[in-house]
Amino acid sequence: MKKKKLDQDLKIGARTDIGKVRKQNEDSLLAQAPIFAVADGMGGHAAGEVASEIAINTLRENAPRTADADALADAVKDANNEVIKAAIEGKGKEGMGTTMTAAVIEGNSLCIAQVGDSRAYLLHSGNLQQITRDHSLMADLIEQGQITPAEARVHPNRSLITRALGNDPDMFADQYELDIEEGDRLLLCSDGLCGVLTDEIILTIMNECQDPQICADQLVDRANMMGGPDNITVIVVDICGSVVKKRKKIRKSKRTFVLIIILFVAIIAGAIALGSYIIGNSAYLCEEEGFISVYQGIPGNFCGINFSKKIYGSDVYVNDLRETTRDHFKDGIIKVEGLDAANRAIENYRKEADTMKEQKSKASQPLSQPGNTDQKKATN
Ligand code: MG
Repeated sequence: MKKKKLDQDLKIGARTDIGKVRKQNEDSLLAQAPIFAVADGMGGHAAGEVASEIAINTLRENAPRTADADALADAVKDANNEVIKAAIEGKGKEGMGTTMTAAVIEGNSLCIAQVGDSRAYLLHSGNLQQITRDHSLMADLIEQGQITPAEARVHPNRSLITRALGNDPDMFADQYELDIEEGDRLLLCSDGLCGVLTDEIILTIMNECQDPQICADQLVDRANMMGGPDNITVIVVDICGSVVKKRKKIRKSKRTFVLIIILFVAIIAGAIALGSYIIGNSAYLCEEEGFISVYQGIPGNFCGINFSKKIYGSDVYVNDLRETTRDHFKDGIIKVEGLDAANRAIENYRKEADTMKEQKSKASQPLSQPGNTDQKKATN
């Protein structure tokens, strides 16, 4: 399968150390972006280190290059199968095993698959969060309230883990998926670190050391200063600017695009509402086939869309009106403020037409009798 190459901007510090007591280092690590992993082998000489190395090599081959938690957990299962197979084939020793805490970082996404008591922590905004939950007797007792974390660090059974690679073909890894940001710092470590140093000491060193390699070294050195009773393995990964900034920029662009769309829709909706208000409160009169018609809206059209509709054609004949009024209609339309005003105007024009018709009628009648009498008198 072709593996996708990621343009990650990560700064990495890593170190594994035998500690002050053990005769061999059974821990193994993988720090090849975007994949990071810590494996804490167990089983004694020529067993623990074999188990952890097989697990790491299998993970390197099979882990996804994207933050796919299911695929990463499957890769851890593959590692489990390889450790079991190796023991059957006589590599290492029967009963050998290992923990596995694996992480893949892809841009702002972090996924983790974990088995055993090696841990993942995230330093975010100066605060340290333990991401993983140990599969150990100590974690169970602490959760049950039977012992404190301080008591667990010196408990005789502090190394007893309840899930590991190498003995159960049905083993599965716990999965975690997180969003991460620029400035975050990921820590993976074996229990030779977190079983010796308190979270407060780890937090202090993580906050004080800017360089991830110096940070990893100081964590290991401090565990050795505390006696170094176990192998110590540390990976520190800093989430740096460019990839995250690009993604933030893309997100920002998406937000801007959405805001523009919302603004555009709001403007369109406002324009429609304003247009509807104007059209609903506007009317005009015009001459059609000699009579006055009433329209609601505003005259004209845009791209074939009319902004008015005919309400009715009146019985007012334009030629019955005064000459000046007729001229108004010949010049075009007469705008009025709404249908009520239009109806009142029609009524006034009807009266005007009646008056004009009455005057014309009177003017066409023959002269009256009194006028004739006067004429007679004048003649006489
Ligand atoms: Mg250990």
